[in-house]
Amino acid sequence: MSDIFETTIVCDKCNKKTNKHQLNRNGFKIRMWECPSCGKIWEHPADKQSQDDFKKLKEKEFQVKLRMVGNSYTVSIPREIIEFEEEFNRELSELISLSMEEPGKVSLFLHKRISRIFKTPKIEEEDEQDMDEE
Ligand SMILES: [Zn+2]
Repeated sequence: MSDIFETTIVCDKCNKKTNKHQLNRNGFKIRMWECPSCGKIWEHPADKQSQDDFKKLKEKEFQVKLRMVGNSYTVSIPREIIEFEEEFNRELSELISLSMEEPGKVSLFLHKRISRIFKTPKIEEEDEQDMDEE
């Protein structure tokens, strides 16, 4: 199936072919057409949809039960969240990363994180000028 983005859109006002762009907005890939003449923008409907879906999902607060299984506790991740992730055709792995963010707050990472390399910033040694000497 070909995507609508393969199509060239002509601005009906200027009768000019639009240019295709892609940008990242809050982690979302937004494909768009832009008229070089009047600057009108058409966003890809599917990209707009996933952004809207995310907004709705973000406003929700889920209540899940904490259950004890063996020596650990488990919680269920609501289906909506998993289905949303699948919209992006991301493959969910069975191994999920979990970390304690702050007291009372735990983060789950459904996908492999790009390990961040924390580089210690180079401390530039400043030549201290001793004012007393002058
Ligand atoms: Zn135009």
